[in-house]
Amino acid sequence: MKEEALYDLFRRKLMEWFASSHRPMPWKGEKDPYLIWLSEVILQQTRVEQGLPYFERFRAQYPDIRSLANAPEDELMKLWEGLGYYSRARNLHQAAKYVANELEGRFPDTYEGIRQLKGVGPYTAAAIASFAYGLPYAVVDGNVSRVLARFFGIDSPVDSGAGKKQFAALAQALLSQTAPGRHNQAMMDFGATHCTPRAPLCRDCPLQQACRAFQQDRVAELPRKEKKPEKKTRFFHYLIFNRQGQAWIRKRTEKDIWRNLYDFPLLELGHPAQGVGEIQNSGCWQQRMGQEQAQNIRASRPFLQLLTHQKIQASFWEIELADETPFNSEGLIAVKRENLSKFAFPRIIDWYLNDNSLYLKLL
Ligand code: SF4
Repeated sequence: MKEEALYDLFRRKLMEWFASSHRPMPWKGEKDPYLIWLSEVILQQTRVEQGLPYFERFRAQYPDIRSLANAPEDELMKLWEGLGYYSRARNLHQAAKYVANELEGRFPDTYEGIRQLKGVGPYTAAAIASFAYGLPYAVVDGNVSRVLARFFGIDSPVDSGAGKKQFAALAQALLSQTAPGRHNQAMMDFGATHCTPRAPLCRDCPLQQACRAFQQDRVAELPRKEKKPEKKTRFFHYLIFNRQGQAWIRKRTEKDIWRNLYDFPLLELGHPAQGVGEIQNSGCWQQRMGQEQAQNIRASRPFLQLLTHQKIQASFWEIELADETPFNSEGLIAVKRENLSKFAFPRIIDWYLNDNSLYLKLL
């Protein structure tokens, strides 16, 4: 089949499928670029089921871009808590301030203008441009590349530089010029619900007859990916100093994961701590306690959180301080334990706080 005819067939079958199968979502058919942007940023790296309640909460709390721009940062981070990839929330905030202050509150209405917003890459810009303004820009993400790699039987790794260019060009060539927003939405839904990574619904697929991967029995092989380097493991030891029902936390301001979230004084080692001696000999301990040793220390079991490029293994060391024990709280915030939930913590800390009856060993 000639290429143009194949493209036509793909578009037609995809739209037929979409007409009968598309998922109702609160942001579908939305024309307000602000709400489209909000939903797209929330859904990056996030499953729809997880992102949906966040979208609803954000929409209720910040119904327009000015209200988001004026939000206190801590409030926004708290609302974002649990979604991960917190740079998204910081970028949202900065971009909202930019639109409110520099663009008089008017959301940009060109692809290039949308791309100027902090944290908006080609995918999000194409989604906003096509959904809100009907501009012909194709979305390309993992779902879209997978569908294209399979349907056209393409071996290029979807995550290589050359592969990305190839899939972007193909997606753009395929894009319906008359209904780009609807076409993009159909591609996104088809990849997310039908041509899925592990169990694609090939038997009931309207594209089956022309799908090269299916015809050549290569569905499980495609898409190809480049080999990923091993994730680095970081060992976090959180020191939770307690006195009379109060603990000390700090805001993470360094250029690292979880910036602007809160955590406890942190000792990072290249390995799990060998015991309480290693904790009490550390610089982090001595900064707070000097040469003072504590009698009452409990260690939690290790908690594990997988991030995109690293694994975090965290242990929590609860230290009960007597009234007279000297403690240097410089740079820390004293918080009653029952008020800890008012602060935005990384998820691994929330897991611990919700599970802190579990001490596997008492030191
Ligand atoms: S036949 Fe299977 S692999 Fe091909 S497009 Fe349909 S679901 Fe995807």
